[in-house]
Amino acid sequence: MYRVACTDRVDQLRSTAVKVLFVTPECYPLVKTGGLADVTGALPLAVAPYGVDARVLLPAYPGVRDQLTGAEMVAALPDLFGGEGALVAGTAGNGLRVLLVAAPHLYERGGGGPYLGPDGHDWPDNHLRFAALSWVGAQLADGLLPDWRPDVVHLHDWQAALTAAYLRFGRSHPAKSSGKKPARAVAAPVVADPVRPATLLTIHNLAFQGLFGAHLLPTLGLPPAALDVDGMEYWGNLSFLKAGVQWCDAVSTVSPTYAREVLTPEQGMGFDGVLRARPDRLIGIANGIDDTVWNPATDPDVVAHYSARRLVAKAANKTALQTELGLDARPDAALFCVVSRLTTQKGLDLLLGALPRLLAAGGQLAVLGSGDRELEDGFRRAAEQHHGRVAVHVGYDEPLSHRMQAGADAIIVPSRFEPCGLTQLYGLRYGTLPVVARVGGLADTVIDANGAALRDGVATGFQFSPVDVGPLAEAIERACDLFADPLAWQRVVKRAMTREVGWGVAAGAYVELYERLVARRSPVAT
Ligand code: ADP
Repeated sequence: MYRVACTDRVDQLRSTAVKVLFVTPECYPLVKTGGLADVTGALPLAVAPYGVDARVLLPAYPGVRDQLTGAEMVAALPDLFGGEGALVAGTAGNGLRVLLVAAPHLYERGGGGPYLGPDGHDWPDNHLRFAALSWVGAQLADGLLPDWRPDVVHLHDWQAALTAAYLRFGRSHPAKSSGKKPARAVAAPVVADPVRPATLLTIHNLAFQGLFGAHLLPTLGLPPAALDVDGMEYWGNLSFLKAGVQWCDAVSTVSPTYAREVLTPEQGMGFDGVLRARPDRLIGIANGIDDTVWNPATDPDVVAHYSARRLVAKAANKTALQTELGLDARPDAALFCVVSRLTTQKGLDLLLGALPRLLAAGGQLAVLGSGDRELEDGFRRAAEQHHGRVAVHVGYDEPLSHRMQAGADAIIVPSRFEPCGLTQLYGLRYGTLPVVARVGGLADTVIDANGAALRDGVATGFQFSPVDVGPLAEAIERACDLFADPLAWQRVVKRAMTREVGWGVAAGAYVELYERLVARRSPVAT
């Protein structure tokens, strides 16, 4: 694996001036379904102090363009997988420089967020929707904009990964369609200099591989050679993610432990062999959080502001949350929360199994999430059976997620696998102690409150392993025991709140990686 010194080297690297294009299907605050958006919304700003000029390319889903200031069309995108589009540049509310692929035939639809149609299933043309995003990424890499060409193209997850295939093979266009002239024709991208941008793929979750039928390859404009077993072929299908893994100069995952786990057959989800073939290209960099958005001392969504030094105000948030959710307003009950997609990955079926022991230990549970119907129903039933002690809010609610973090005493993250995880980091920042499975980024970011760690004053939460009902219940009981000793609990809370969870360290590691990739990028083969 690459070794990157995780030191804060702002001064040393300040003169970097590397131009980086982020290609991503979502980005906070414009559009978010999960942690990927938090990362692509925060990392480009976090690397700016190092001199990195980062821009973020994403689709213009409904309402996204309206959130930009100074939005203007900067290039036409003719022949964009069944229609015409345009590239729009603007600035998001947090100062992020954004490029949008505006293509009404692909992105201006209702439905359930960026990926799902109104029936809750993937849009049937998702391969074209994200091929288009990737194709525009490749064009920008090849010099589409005369005044801004990236040195590094940083791809995020399968939806962006096909960029690497287009950079390798180009794209063959279907026969010209309507004959109608685009508003402003774009010259075929010309590689103005012999050096192609370096490419980096970040895998936020290996479970999402962008699998589609192999027969769709021609519609993507890629040649049969792309479907080689050493290409993007995956058990008879084609995988967008594999294209990125095969053809990017480097691959990163969002924590060091996950980078090791994906090399094993148990956690590699069929990709371990491909990743093991070139382990020197793989690196794990743990995510940070945007501590301007997630700061209990300034958070506009919380009832009472607090900090590690003014902890007493956290109690008002707890009472307010209990009242809001219909829980008994008891300060002495340890209030556990969950803010999560409700899926098997997140291990929340285990929490349903451990619930009797959580309640027997005197705890309360508040759940915010949506996903699998069975889990939603399971938590709804639990809330009915244990009125006043269990509450569930099914849905996606960003402000409520802040109030949960501020009001709860602990946050439970029992994931079966977790590339990094962000909610445990928000928990640390908000003094809401994480109870986590010892996997992936959860293992990297929480220090278990065992006897030695408590004595040394380094504990920040509770870990359990193996990932099962019994160990989870034990960790919850340990948390309840510690909660019963207010001074000991407060010491751990203060330690958690002062632990560095911002982007400082990770941003430095990414900048080093960008520089390393730029230094070794190779001339374009002719
Ligand atoms: P993943 O990306 O796998 O879903 P992460 O922990 O990396 O998990 O990131 C999840 C992000 O989505 C966090 O910012 C979390 O607060 C947010 N989130 C998840 N579910 C909800 C919800 N129901 N309402 C509000 N925010 C949510």
